[in-house]
Amino acid sequence: MLKTFSIGGVHPQENKLSAHQPIIKADIPAKAVILLGQHIGAPAKPIVAKGDVVKVGTKIAEPGGFVSAAIHSSVSGKVAKIDNIIDASGYPKPAIFIDVEGDEWEETIDRSETLVKECTLSAEEIVKKIADAGIVGLGGACFPTQVKLCPPPTAKAECVIINAVECEPYLTADHQLMLEHAEEIMVGVSILMKAVKVNKAFIGIENNKPDAIQVMTKVASTYAGIEVVPLKVRYPQGGEKQLIDAVIKRQVASGALPISTGAVVQNVGTAFAVYQAVQKNKPLFERVISVTGKSVAKPSNFLARIGTPMQQLIDACGGLPEDTGKIIGGGPMMGKALVNTEVPTAKGSSGILIMNKKEAKRGEQQPCIRCAKCVTACPMGLEPYLLSALAENGDFERMEIEKTMDCIECGSCQFTCPANRPLTDYCRLGKAKVGAMIRARQAKK
Ligand code: SF4
Ligand code: SF4
Repeated sequence: MLKTFSIGGVHPQENKLSAHQPIIKADIPAKAVILLGQHIGAPAKPIVAKGDVVKVGTKIAEPGGFVSAAIHSSVSGKVAKIDNIIDASGYPKPAIFIDVEGDEWEETIDRSETLVKECTLSAEEIVKKIADAGIVGLGGACFPTQVKLCPPPTAKAECVIINAVECEPYLTADHQLMLEHAEEIMVGVSILMKAVKVNKAFIGIENNKPDAIQVMTKVASTYAGIEVVPLKVRYPQGGEKQLIDAVIKRQVASGALPISTGAVVQNVGTAFAVYQAVQKNKPLFERVISVTGKSVAKPSNFLARIGTPMQQLIDACGGLPEDTGKIIGGGPMMGKALVNTEVPTAKGSSGILIMNKKEAKRGEQQPCIRCAKCVTACPMGLEPYLLSALAENGDFERMEIEKTMDCIECGSCQFTCPANRPLTDYCRLGKAKVGAMIRARQAKK
């Protein structure tokens, strides 16, 4: 029987419309807008100013703290300004605007297609290279990778788990990356194993991607200690805690870090970026992104420079369909509606989903009928109907007691609710309020 996680979960329609579309290099934008806050933690600090000339791969911002990441230019040209722009969250955020001239890369980057397998660097040198290249988790959470590779002294890494689940409906970027770059990914996984000093890695792939399972299993057989684990299709298996549960049957306790189970989880796109950073000296300045939707003329997977306006990628798929109801940054379960299409792509941009009017329409909200479907669906063992009622009443103290902070905002509760209650929205609100309460309490100490 195929492995999966032990509680909750749903199976939305997969709608992988861009599956098997080869990765196309997107056009370089005329102007790149590179956000300073593309990761969890402190925004990066700019080290360029208006008028400076940059190349592809030039470092343009330093990490702004321990939990932060460096940022590199994705284009060559001249810095036009440092200013705010609306990002995928809908709020204005500081960014470096670059007017593009040509496509001149830093000479240190190895642009050849040659596979470089051997890595003679020490664990410490690998982590430093990953930090210098600005690598963050590419599954969407964007946690700086170097931080995750240095677990606290109380924890011990026992294995690496690669998240190649791509359980969000519609998205296919990771699937296509595996089909086209299995060897590079496998070298990246070996490097990650070396960085955390373990000799075992598991690659979890859902069995709706049989071709990826096949190619990755074949390539993995030539690398020591790497095993591909086919998983049953079940959302949100790509959640870090759910994936650890599915693959090694260990559970992360409430409030504990995933490393407490001995697992270091990295996304498959991150493993590819690690290969490029360590073996090719290539900083993270481009990524694969799916642009998709039922009314999109040509759903596609692009390799796009970070800072490309989303509108440009939508145009490359045939333009915005007439019946567009909503444009989502990410997938339909965890993505967020974009306020405009000039939002620039960032390191965490895994997809752009264009929903038609019919799909985008939310069902009319009804009173809760106490069916408990949301409780059954919640992969974190929470009671979403209760959390939403508490948020509605502003009872955030009780929300903290009911473990709101454990919510992974997966949307499974809202997806399953027959009364169309906006349960995830209330959980997000509760998490923001409870998080602020906890931070205020800690600041007083
Ligand atoms: S969004 Fe939160 S409360 Fe709802 S199912 Fe996911 S983890 Fe549970
Ligand atoms: S699924 Fe909806 S209707 Fe059913 S208990 Fe949960 S909130 Fe109420």
